Amino acid sequence: MSATAKGTCPACTDWAYASSQPNYDHIHAVRALPDEDHEDTHLVLHGWATGFSSESVPGLEQTWVFFERLEPALVFGRAGRMSVHDITSYGVYRAAREVRFDYGTGRQVTTLYVTGRAIGRQAGEDKQFSRWTRGVQPDSAYYEDPVQ
Ligand SMILES: [Zn+2]
Repeated sequence: MSATAKGTCPACTDWAYASSQPNYDHIHAVRALPDEDHEDTHLVLHGWATGFSSESVPGLEQTWVFFERLEPALVFGRAGRMSVHDITSYGVYRAAREVRFDYGTGRQVTTLYVTGRAIGRQAGEDKQFSRWTRGVQPDSAYYEDPVQ
């Protein structure tokens, strides 16, 4: 798969994952995520992907955003959907973001792996929203796990 050019990968052809995003070389639907890895030439982080799309906005086809933490992924999806005119659907899924150096092409390849079962809009989600509020740091882009 490493030498497959963007746009020609058969694993990228699923309708929900087919739109090309400039920040990902591949977006694959998978049953199981690849193992986490923290090598210099191979980084795999587990987390969550929020996918959203619009039926009314040209150019806003299925788009994915990766988060290392669940709370901001849920908030991002829910808040985006509240733009009822611009975002018509969203989902939050277990995901992994892989960056590896491809020796064949001499460049980094970034792949998003997304599992198939949406976990958003579940009972108790309001508790995750509250955790997110407590974990926001006004002077940082990072979500920090709040003290219980
Ligand atoms: Zn692919």
